Amino acid sequence: MAPKIAPVEASAELPAQTEVAVIGGGIVGLAAALVLAERGIPVTVLEKGRIAGEQSSRNLGWVRKTSRAPADLPLALAADRLWAELPARTGRDVGYRQAGIMFLARSEAELQAHETWLGSVNGLGLGSRMLGAAEIGALVPGGAGSWAGGVFTPSDGRAEPTLAASTIAAAAIAKGAKIIEGCAVRGLQTSGGRVSGVVTERGEVTCNAVLLAGGLWSRRFLGNLGIALPALPLTCSVFRTASMEGPTDIAVGGPDFSFRKHADGGYVITQRGALSCPLVADHLLIGMRYLHLLRDQRGLLRITVNRQSLDDLRLKRRWRQDRPSPFETVRVMDPPTIPTLNEEALANLSAAWPAFAGARIEEAWAGTMDITPDSNPVIGPAARIPGLTLATGFSGHGFGTAPAAGQLAADLVTGAPPLVDPAPYRLERF
Ligand SMILES: Cc1cc2nc3c(=O)[nH]c(=O)nc-3n(C[C@H](O)[C@H](O)[C@H](O)COP(=O)(O)OP(=O)(O)OC[C@H]3O[C@@H](n4cnc5c(N)ncnc54)[C@H](O)[C@@H]3O)c2cc1C
Repeated sequence: MAPKIAPVEASAELPAQTEVAVIGGGIVGLAAALVLAERGIPVTVLEKGRIAGEQSSRNLGWVRKTSRAPADLPLALAADRLWAELPARTGRDVGYRQAGIMFLARSEAELQAHETWLGSVNGLGLGSRMLGAAEIGALVPGGAGSWAGGVFTPSDGRAEPTLAASTIAAAAIAKGAKIIEGCAVRGLQTSGGRVSGVVTERGEVTCNAVLLAGGLWSRRFLGNLGIALPALPLTCSVFRTASMEGPTDIAVGGPDFSFRKHADGGYVITQRGALSCPLVADHLLIGMRYLHLLRDQRGLLRITVNRQSLDDLRLKRRWRQDRPSPFETVRVMDPPTIPTLNEEALANLSAAWPAFAGARIEEAWAGTMDITPDSNPVIGPAARIPGLTLATGFSGHGFGTAPAAGQLAADLVTGAPPLVDPAPYRLERF
């Protein structure tokens, strides 16, 4: 089950034409649609299932610069500014709070990794700093863990995934965007060598540009067009506690747990030290490109063969546009929650901060992320098909940058001056 998002009044009718067709109603596609609509450009978002039904409602809600690659930081800094402006643009508070993010290290080796990151962003003015055990205790009282130290960025924060995407969607609709749910895009139409429309399960929509913001599905969509996008699925289990007296407003990531305060007064918790990796064919096809990540994160992956693996095997990799596509087979990717991972997270967290020992679990869910080989997204043109732009592969940290990623994608689609230098996000880097 996914957490429930605030409902959106989507359009029932598919328009015959638009200027920009956005494939995917996750937070990235919706943020792009809002920018386009604000600029008076006709835009239609086509979503196979429900708005934000996949990653964008299931994530932890962290908005962070800490531990990001230096090349990804201009986008994250732009996103901080855009999160702060969102209430004025949308008329609603989406729970954005710059309460800080802290990552903890148990061992000297873990601490060294944080120090190396801090050294790599020296001079960027993030305000991040290393912490000793005493300072951790002062910032997050009531702890019983033993820490070698940590890294802390006071200007990092959080927002509520269950509010953000639908608020952005509602604002885009109010500015003239059309959003269609339950409408899978099967493929593209081209004429004169460039994009001229999209073929959906409900008919065609002519357009001058297409933005593919399909999350986990972008690799399959592009594969059918003969374009290779390296992105692999990884699944994370999460739970939310009932409202409780917690130790801090800061979001804290330990080696084997993380927690952050939820707007309802509870905490959103996960096992940071373990991700579930149900094997799918793509792991075998392109897994070798990820060996460097595996070396750095030994023990992180729990490889399994489960329902997700079998479902994936049955899904087509090639299809005709006049036949149902895989996107109609899986309306909403809803992977099974792994209760043992959630139990581990709560046990590890309770050992570190005993205040969590009595926490009551209100809801639990899982979400599948799309990870690229360098853990950074692709935002830019698909050069082989003029008129097609990609904004995808957000690698488990695209919620925080979404307002900026959407704006950058909208800039690139329309040839406007880009919000930040898009060079780090080119598809050609792979
Ligand atoms: C458990 C979990 C925790 C996370 N925690 C964080 C965090 O704390 N901070 C952070 O920054 N990020 C986090 N992330 C990552 C973040 O959620 C994603 O990077 C972000 O939501 C990606 O947004 P998106 O719009 O690209 O993708 P999605 O939200 O997956 O949206 C893509 C949409 O495209 C639709 N679609 C795909 N193909 C088609 C098609 N052919 N036709 C029509 N529709 C289509 C899909 O149905 C889907 O709704 C987490 C992710 C998960 C799963």
